[in-house]
Amino acid sequence: MEIEKLVLPGIEASERPIIIAGPCSAESREQVLNTAQELAKNGVKIFRAGIWKPRTKPGGFEGVGTVGLPWLKEVKQKTGMLVATEVATAAHVFEAVKAGIDILWIGARTAANPFAMQELADSLKGTDIPVLVKNPVNPDLELWIGALQRLVNAGITNVGVILRGFSTYDQKLYRNLPLWHIPIELRRRYPNITMFCDPSHIGGKRELVAPISQQAMDLKFDGLMVESHCNPDEALSDAKQQITPQVLDFTIKMLVLRENKQTTENISVLRKQIDEIDEQLLTILAKRNRVSREIGMYKKENNMPVLQTGRYNEILEKRAQMGEAMNLDKEFVFAIMKSIHEESVRIQLAL
Ligand code: PEP
Ligand code: MN
Repeated sequence: MEIEKLVLPGIEASERPIIIAGPCSAESREQVLNTAQELAKNGVKIFRAGIWKPRTKPGGFEGVGTVGLPWLKEVKQKTGMLVATEVATAAHVFEAVKAGIDILWIGARTAANPFAMQELADSLKGTDIPVLVKNPVNPDLELWIGALQRLVNAGITNVGVILRGFSTYDQKLYRNLPLWHIPIELRRRYPNITMFCDPSHIGGKRELVAPISQQAMDLKFDGLMVESHCNPDEALSDAKQQITPQVLDFTIKMLVLRENKQTTENISVLRKQIDEIDEQLLTILAKRNRVSREIGMYKKENNMPVLQTGRYNEILEKRAQMGEAMNLDKEFVFAIMKSIHEESVRIQLAL
């Protein structure tokens, strides 16, 4: 399977980070339009809102359903933003495509289910709508790739992925563990794949959105999908992790986009220094061994024992002190001096 870079109308290929933002759920026409207008004012070009919500337990807010689709259409008309929503069944696909939704995403629970993925792939046949696949809830890279394969096999090739983190039993720092090595391996296998990071569902808390977004940028993610609500505290789902459009704007402006070129240039200067230092270290060690060999000759001619415990202890103690004064760890200096001294003893014994 080959995966090319995601193409989105009106979004430059070079744009980074591509921002997708909007509420966890579309709740009312007013909430959708207020949030969208604020986001658009700040330059966000892609609006997200969940219409059908997969909730862990029944009885919660499960989304407004198809009545919310015209609100997204209105967002499109009034702001010019692209609009995106989550689909989990063939019926959702049918409704979303009919309503002119621009981008679809597949949620973490759905991506973990091959039957559901196949049903979605089949229902999408013949469309050219961009589809983003969130990671499955369980940390199974092959399952994630399998989900993409089902779409690609059905001719849906304009695809990308969203890292939203992986479920754990005890949620300590993160709501869902990012396990960054998984998307890194995905990128290694599919170098052109467009990867979004969803810091909202990874962190589960407002204050984690910024640091996780920065980490995603440092790991060369192409974009971010962030939950943003005009009144987060009142949100009907995921209230704790949603941020206002203003906070989102600030968060994006604070991101540091480290240029690849600059980083490798800086690092190569430092690496050159390390290379030179290592050469000096080896030259000095070779010199020390030559002197040690001469001492060995002297000891042999004068019938002295090779190992003199007093001298050995003196060397270890004094060097450790010297090292400490230079801010070197005492244990580290001990280990090195022991190893150097051992080599000295070996050289002298060989004589
Ligand atoms: C969401 O994006 O609101 C959502 C339900 O996401 P996930 O599938 O990652 O839980
Ligand atoms: Mn959510």
